[in-house]
Amino acid sequence: MTFTKSLVWFRRDLRAFDHAALHHALTSSQAVYCVFIYDTDILEVLPRADRRVEFIHASLAELDAELRQMGGHLLVRHAGAVAGITQLAAELGVDAVFANHDYEPQAIDRDAAVAEVLEADGRSLFTFKDQVIFEKSEVLTLAAQTFSVFTPYKNAWLKRMLAEPSCLDGYEIEAHAAHFAPAPADHRLLTLADIGFEPANLPIAAGMSGAAALFEDFIGRIADYGEARNYPAVKGPSYLSVHLRFGTLSIRHLVRTVNGIIANGAGGEGAPVWLSELIWREFYAMILFHHPRVTERAFKPAYDAIEWEAGPEAQELFAAWCEGRTGYPLVDAAMLQLNQTGYMHNRLRMVTACFLIKDLGVDWRWGERYFALLLNDYDLSSNNGGWQWAASTGCDAQPYFRIFNPITQSEKFDAKGKFIRRYLPQLAKLSDKEIHAPWLSGGAANYPGPIVQHDEARKKTLERYAVVKIQAA
Ligand code: FAD
Repeated sequence: MTFTKSLVWFRRDLRAFDHAALHHALTSSQAVYCVFIYDTDILEVLPRADRRVEFIHASLAELDAELRQMGGHLLVRHAGAVAGITQLAAELGVDAVFANHDYEPQAIDRDAAVAEVLEADGRSLFTFKDQVIFEKSEVLTLAAQTFSVFTPYKNAWLKRMLAEPSCLDGYEIEAHAAHFAPAPADHRLLTLADIGFEPANLPIAAGMSGAAALFEDFIGRIADYGEARNYPAVKGPSYLSVHLRFGTLSIRHLVRTVNGIIANGAGGEGAPVWLSELIWREFYAMILFHHPRVTERAFKPAYDAIEWEAGPEAQELFAAWCEGRTGYPLVDAAMLQLNQTGYMHNRLRMVTACFLIKDLGVDWRWGERYFALLLNDYDLSSNNGGWQWAASTGCDAQPYFRIFNPITQSEKFDAKGKFIRRYLPQLAKLSDKEIHAPWLSGGAANYPGPIVQHDEARKKTLERYAVVKIQAA
């Protein structure tokens, strides 16, 4: 054994199985402690009832229970991350801290600061790839460049995965459980109240058990995913994004399982499409890692010249969008889904983002920030990627002249208005035909008229984006 004592720092990997950092700590240390830190820098800007905080809190309880079954336990602290982890390392007298890679710019800076303090104290920080199959520069073009287009990236990703099947191997934990440091007699976890939060009516099951139940349910319908995923009123997608965000499941396990289904010929058209979505997640993580400037600016610099609406009128348009009162039922129902549950269907993320940017002329960064505040699965790389895709400013984005028509999208993807009726009961009595554009049939009580006319907005947007063509010429 290399180390006498080590500390595993859990962040977005809240599980007790197939965990790279935990495995490496257990196989190289005599006694392993585990900790999660509620980072006060992150928490202080959140509302006191936050679904993500509740998700983490519930997931930590399960993680602690699993670790205790194996002879370990989870310490939980409420502190600034750098001070919290380095002080605990000193308190416990560990030789090393183990954690999994995080690719967000602020997290990279945080980890560098932690490494510096630990090193000055004679300790080390070891970090590992865990939340993706391929990271950083592991998937490159033939010319050893990073990709900026998805399809060739995906092909190279799949090629590498098939060439190196060991990249999907799990990290054994239980077999090394003898190295867990046991819990002290007064062991207890922090409550939500201890960290200044209240319950937020989380509508999903958290933790490893919540993830496993969702995945099992999804596997039974994965063959239909390719088609069913498009309709917000249909149980088509997996709903696993929040679990992928917080690592209550293992990406290696997901990909191994899907590959097995595809190999058995049982995945229909859906399984390869779903695998593609998991690769999109890694594509955007890779883009953020190599181009951290996307958090502030357009991936394609020419698009930074676009002038967005500003002033009180833009603020009012934005508020109407946030609160689901644009007068376009599919957009409004989608925003209410987000506000009430913290989830929004992927089709609706595309529709609402496109509406904000190309119908209301509002800067995509405003929408990005609003989603960041509310999405249970908020992930900087995927959210930024999604918004830059919708704004046509991103790496492999839709062309700027592709402007979703919110009525046509509604007629196509919620033809019978089933999703709309769920969130806008005041429209329930309208016919399946009327519900997509109520003002055309005299409107409905307690529901606003359209905030903009789509055709006019479309023209304005094409003019707004003309600056890009001029710049590029
Ligand atoms: P499924 O359809 O079951 O897909 C499985 C998994 O693949 C998802 O859980 C997710 O991890 C990944 N995935 C699917 N689609 C995408 C995609 N387009 N880009 C990257 N990964 C994808 N996803 C987030 O996880 N966090 C975000 O903050 C986020 N913000 C978005 C913002 C916008 C404007 C748009 C257009 C998309 C955004 N997405 C985001 C991607 C996508 O909408 C969600 O991942 C998906 O809706 C989650 O539902 P699911 O787990 O049922 O997905």
